[in-house]
Amino acid sequence: MQLEEKVAAVTQVFEGLDQQIANFQSATSLHCKAGCGKCCFKPDIEATILEFLPFALHLYKQKQAEQWLEKLSQIDSSICLILNPTQAGAGLCTEYPHRGLICRLFGYSARTNKYGSKELVTCQVIKTEQTEAYNKTVEMISKGLRFL
Ligand code: SF4
Repeated sequence: MQLEEKVAAVTQVFEGLDQQIANFQSATSLHCKAGCGKCCFKPDIEATILEFLPFALHLYKQKQAEQWLEKLSQIDSSICLILNPTQAGAGLCTEYPHRGLICRLFGYSARTNKYGSKELVTCQVIKTEQTEAYNKTVEMISKGLRFL
């Protein structure tokens, strides 16, 4: 598969996922706190090359790839390169449309636990500040509700 095809395939997955997350938010009322970005400051977040391939191709097409590579070699690599803690507005991500899979899923994913049941995986901010909606969602998921 050529690079452009890979990027198109990843972008398609992201578009489908964004729609599913929107459905989930609408069904549960769970949402990120405006301007939060607390999860972006975690230093140990791992991401794959594939999920940032659309961003890399974007930079290459904009002739900014080398400039960003240089930036990458100069900064504290434990902090996300596209995070701007002082950015005004709704969020702190400078490349929100190009964010990776981990960024899209944070707060809105689920896993199968050791008992074979599905459980919601979300952040402390959502758990503690949207407790009622969180508990309702946990119950909905335990009853097998899917958000597709
Ligand atoms: S997932 Fe949680 S910590 Fe991250 S931005 Fe949303 S509310 Fe904040």
